[in-house]
Amino acid sequence: MADFTDKVGLIVGVANHRSLAWAIAQATANAGAKLILTYQGRFEEHVGELAATLDPKPTVLPCDVTSDEQIAAVFERIEQDHGGLDFLVHGAAFAAREEITGGFLKTTREGFKQALDVSAYSLIALTRGAQPLMAKRGGGSVVTLTFLGSDRVFPNYNVMGVAKAALESSVRYLAADLGPENIRVNAISAGPVKTLAAAGIGGFSSILGVVREKAPLRRAIETSEVGDTAAFLLSHAGRGITGEVIMVDAGYHIIGM
Ligand code: NAP
Repeated sequence: MADFTDKVGLIVGVANHRSLAWAIAQATANAGAKLILTYQGRFEEHVGELAATLDPKPTVLPCDVTSDEQIAAVFERIEQDHGGLDFLVHGAAFAAREEITGGFLKTTREGFKQALDVSAYSLIALTRGAQPLMAKRGGGSVVTLTFLGSDRVFPNYNVMGVAKAALESSVRYLAADLGPENIRVNAISAGPVKTLAAAGIGGFSSILGVVREKAPLRRAIETSEVGDTAAFLLSHAGRGITGEVIMVDAGYHIIGM
């Protein structure tokens, strides 16, 4: 098991106990990490309650990733409290419900901008905030969460697929920029899991059903499997890996038909 003793990590994207980011928080906190969890608006209480179940108890801060001011405030607080940062987990994504229901052709300009801003640009903004704090530690590791819909067409995934393609490309550009500072940037491409965000995608249950039937492991993934892979990438064990998209999808992506 990875050892995160004395490591400080920022985790963005916990909404509730089903969140993939929560599985990563558990995996790293259980291995000793000191965490900062953020919430957006309505989930302050939820995230606070979850944080209270971890030891050491994480700091909980507000952060809407579309706000440069809120992002700056999070990193100022981390600098004050810890002086540096070892890892960042980016698990924020959003597309308006009407953009992920029905045809892709009707994608609106506003819906496109919003999905790309929250789900892809935010990785760049957060990594930029993390960089000076990671440099103080002699390096760091960033992990974001993506889906195979970046590359292949899934019904109703629509503009979120375009956002994930931008996100994965951003991973590679950030990895190239930050590699000389020993800061690694990777993505985990998770198989479908019934979370709050997934519930917004029209017909999500049928995607889950196909994966259960066709994936080599004949099952969907569990969030703890994403947590464990993230812990590996964020830890010393992942030190040779950057710019990569690691599939944690019970093997579904290798199947032709
Ligand atoms: P989730 O629990 O709903 O997490 C999504 C998070 O994004 C929520 O905490 C949400 O907060 C946050 N978010 C949305 N807009 C935000 C904003 N403006 N500022 C800050 N945070 C914002 O769902 P999840 O499935 O775990 O999603 C986590 C990541 O995994 C996403 O990138 C998702 O695309 C990816 N992923 C999910 C699956 C899947 O099947 N579930 C598969 C592959 C990849 P609010 O709820 O408060 O808006």
